[in-house]
Amino acid sequence: MHESDILIIGAGISGLICATELQQAGCSVRLVDKGRGVGGRMATRRMNGGRIDHGAQFFTVRDKRFHMYVQEWLDHGIVREWYRNAPVDQQEEPHIRYCGVSGMSDAPKYLARECNVHCGERIQNLSRESQQWIASAESGETFRARELVITAPLPQALQLLDTTDLDYAGDALAKLRAITYAKGLALLAMLDGPSGIHAPGAIKMQNSVVSWLADNHIKGISPIVGITVHATPAFAEKHWDSKDEVRAPLIIEAIQPELQANIVEYTCHRWGFTHPLQRWPDTCYRNAACNLTLAGDAFGGPRVEGAALSGLEAAQHILG
Ligand SMILES: Cc1cc2nc3c(=O)[nH]c(=O)nc-3n(C[C@H](O)[C@H](O)[C@H](O)COP(=O)(O)OP(=O)(O)OC[C@H]3O[C@@H](n4cnc5c(N)ncnc54)[C@H](O)[C@@H]3O)c2cc1C
Repeated sequence: MHESDILIIGAGISGLICATELQQAGCSVRLVDKGRGVGGRMATRRMNGGRIDHGAQFFTVRDKRFHMYVQEWLDHGIVREWYRNAPVDQQEEPHIRYCGVSGMSDAPKYLARECNVHCGERIQNLSRESQQWIASAESGETFRARELVITAPLPQALQLLDTTDLDYAGDALAKLRAITYAKGLALLAMLDGPSGIHAPGAIKMQNSVVSWLADNHIKGISPIVGITVHATPAFAEKHWDSKDEVRAPLIIEAIQPELQANIVEYTCHRWGFTHPLQRWPDTCYRNAACNLTLAGDAFGGPRVEGAALSGLEAAQHILG
């Protein structure tokens, strides 16, 4: 049995920022995540000697509280500017696009080095006993804490809470359940030569199959040429259960005109939850009567920064 004041399920950016804030205020905090590493959708993968960002591609900064975190990451060489005002999409707002120096998981990893994180632990059951939350993992490990924060994508968080017999959200439950997410499909591929994509190495595409194409070598995170292709939400939905041999050729056909080299190897990655299609009106949800807080991008908005601010405000609600 692992005990702490506060247990946070999910070591993505919102859970890690929440943990950082709570620890700075003197709380004992433990994070659990089902992934092999931290970062959640800020994900970087190794593939045949290359490095590929297959979830979030960059982040932007609008709020000064998030800016303080990003400034520290810049000062420590964890993140850097990828591009600004580049001809990726003329419609985009002129915010600086930041990325990790060796991949998008760099900033979460940096935050996690000060945190007590248990990776590879999938929580499958929650209960409450003597004013304490008990979270049971698939592995048989149990985590006990007075306060529980869940930062998993909201439908997954509610599924977990449904394993209790608690009325954990009262009248708000129907509205929480109404928040849904778009599915995503990423194709990750290695090329046999330079992609031919112009600096900064990304193209926001405008067709029914592909929405984004990026060259991780030009981006500066991969020693060899590896590309990330994001399918449109409609394509991901339609081909969710298709075999890779069916959906990958369609994606490759859509990007071929942009490439000067051949794909020598590829894999597809399904994202069950890319971004929320609706947003909760507050930056987190808190039920103080049962010491439960829900945070993440369903609350803060569908971006890295939104998720980070949700984690930060969740911590303030718990402390306040
Ligand atoms: C393909 C894609 C592209 C994107 N592009 C961008 C972009 O370019 N810019 C941008 O700003 N944002 C982008 N986003 C959105 C951004 O990545 C998210 O908004 C943000 O990372 C969400 O952070 P989070 O901490 O709320 O959730 P997550 O990162 O999802 O973290 C939640 C964590 O909970 C864990 N978890 C879930 N269930 C359990 C369980 N039962 N037990 C234990 N752990 C559990 C998960 O493993 C995960 O690590 C993109 C997302 C995707 C998928």
